[in-house]
Amino acid sequence: MKELLAAPFMVEMIRTAANMYNHGWDERNGGNISLMLDGNELTEYLDPEIILRTIPTGFTAPELDGKYFLVTGTGKYFKNVQYAPEVNLGIVRLAQQGQQAELLWGYSGGGQFTSEFPAHMMSHVSRLKVDPENHVVMHCHPANLLAMTYVHPLDEREFTRTLWQMCTECVVVFPDGVNVLPWMLCGTNEIGEATAEKMKTARLVVWSQHGIYGAGKDLDETFGLIETAEKAAEIYMKIAHLPRINTITDKQLHLLEKRFGIKAREGYLN
Ligand SMILES: [Zn+2]
Repeated sequence: MKELLAAPFMVEMIRTAANMYNHGWDERNGGNISLMLDGNELTEYLDPEIILRTIPTGFTAPELDGKYFLVTGTGKYFKNVQYAPEVNLGIVRLAQQGQQAELLWGYSGGGQFTSEFPAHMMSHVSRLKVDPENHVVMHCHPANLLAMTYVHPLDEREFTRTLWQMCTECVVVFPDGVNVLPWMLCGTNEIGEATAEKMKTARLVVWSQHGIYGAGKDLDETFGLIETAEKAAEIYMKIAHLPRINTITDKQLHLLEKRFGIKAREGYLN
């Protein structure tokens, strides 16, 4: 067996958690990440027949039966992941229509996966239907996106257009825009189902007065997606109270579509 802590996916997960903490997106035990793993690759690092514990998930997701995920633990601090990965992370395989999670590694000391596991797994189901290459769901609390939900209308088209106008590259990085949920109680199947529904049409879902969800092919891409939206929100929060005398126009956004071969979400540009 190869050394699990040296596996590329593990190294990347640990670095990403540290990087997110260093960006100030994951105070205390805030934020969570789930990374879908390749079952064949995983057998180079552990024996998938050895199940340490079985943990009920509280939801059903037959689409994910037999799939493997590396997931941050509930109540765990991102800042500590790099120092004690086996305490703060776990590898689970979903079984019995997704109702059971078989723990194969991690959560040592009796922990379990993030309380936002339903939102993560339901979002994976949604994104995999749109993009079979999707592997990552990431949640965090970036300050400017959060601040924006206090002062900007939550209408998805308006919210998206504002972000696109803040940095030239935004429409290129997230042409499908940003979907927005109103404030909801977190950690429930309800917010999980609502997030998954929003994930059908965009890779970014803002949780008002709470944070954001992002999805993507790999950790880098998903981190970059949230990073770009957060940068745009930061610029908005710097200028929102000032008279705006210049902006990125719809005509210019159309030019970006042509230049980068992307298509902005239908009906979002005039
Ligand atoms: Zn949160």
